[in-house]
Amino acid sequence: MGSWLIEGGTVVTMDDARTVLPRADLLIEGEEIAGIWPEGKRPADVEAERKLQADGMVVIPGLINAHTHAAMTLLRGYADDMPLMPWLKERIWPVEMKLEEEDVYWGTMLAAMEMIRAGVTCFNDMYHYFEATARAVVDSGIRGVVSGVLLGFLPDAEERLAKAVAFAKEWNGAADGRLVTMLGPHALYTCPENLLSKVLAGAEEAGVGVHIHLSETAQEVEDSKQQTGRTPVKRLAEMGLLDARPVLAAHCVHLTEEDIALLVEHGVGVCHNPGSNMKLASGVAPVPKLLEAGAVVGLGTDGPASNNNLDMLEEVQLAALLHKVHTGDPTVVPAAAALEMATRGSARALGMDDRLGQIKAGMKADLAVLDFRRPHLFPPHDIISHLVYAARAGDVRTVFINGRPALLDGRVQGIDEEEVYAQVRARVERLVS
Ligand SMILES: [Zn+2]
Repeated sequence: MGSWLIEGGTVVTMDDARTVLPRADLLIEGEEIAGIWPEGKRPADVEAERKLQADGMVVIPGLINAHTHAAMTLLRGYADDMPLMPWLKERIWPVEMKLEEEDVYWGTMLAAMEMIRAGVTCFNDMYHYFEATARAVVDSGIRGVVSGVLLGFLPDAEERLAKAVAFAKEWNGAADGRLVTMLGPHALYTCPENLLSKVLAGAEEAGVGVHIHLSETAQEVEDSKQQTGRTPVKRLAEMGLLDARPVLAAHCVHLTEEDIALLVEHGVGVCHNPGSNMKLASGVAPVPKLLEAGAVVGLGTDGPASNNNLDMLEEVQLAALLHKVHTGDPTVVPAAAALEMATRGSARALGMDDRLGQIKAGMKADLAVLDFRRPHLFPPHDIISHLVYAARAGDVRTVFINGRPALLDGRVQGIDEEEVYAQVRARVERLVS
């Protein structure tokens, strides 16, 4: 069991009191945070195998990307500036038909490298060839929630569901608990209700949650109302799907007051994806209203083909800015609320807040250490303001995941970055040829 002592960094705990401890010491033992001491309070007998000097650094809980399709790094920049449905039907889905399992593995490895370098310690994924995503989680050292995407229009949809349930059972808790599984019905408009009821039964059988896109576009909601007289949220609630534990609903852009009440009542984890919603012009999710109503709101990038990166610090900034310009009120989604979405909010939305999202003794040691000795982060009036409005992925120097260094002083540990670039380059040539 390894141990690390991180000395003299400013620790942003994100605990209930939102404590920020200047020049504190933090002890990691095994997979967990074993202790945090304010300046000068560390007992003399605290020892660790290795030490990290963190003067001028800021230590935060690892950022949690609550909704993405990591292997879509392969399609980053391949099709931009299009509406969602033509973008999917004309560009994305035809290339995805050519995907092979190893493409997904290497695309996810590239995503893991990018996320680790950006201080992202956990991601919630939905994609094809989920075993490959799971293998990339195991090999890269990142923490991942993996669900196989289920699309009702595929001829073998039922067979795929059976495979996804078997996968969810077999892999849940693998890699020392770094891997968690869910079932991933793509959306209500791509999965018929009879498939969704089987998904619910499968989730109960496997003891896992459900990850779904929900009310992303106005068209989706309009079509649902025309076909059934009800909104997608209401239909999922009536079907019982919102009672799975947990339910992670991505986007939730177009919601009625009743929808918001239902999401709160069922404890659904909403993942806000401001970058993707802006790029695809899907609309602006009613995040201030959701927060006011007591909804669980996390934050995600969505896939790198609709963002186009996996930089959660950028996403935090977008979340803080978007709702100000949209409501005309500069006080909504203040910096601390935006940072909370990317840490505790995402952890709660994924049902993992008992172990992730805060820096506290007993929590998993998932941490990002940022170098604040930089012009754009000086002077340090307000650390949380700087994290939200001024910091960038490139400021992240060191990252711990499950107690192990995944990035150490700017160097990714345990991934051959050159091999990842070479594999992705070759595979992408085939996919788009
Ligand atoms: Zn998505």
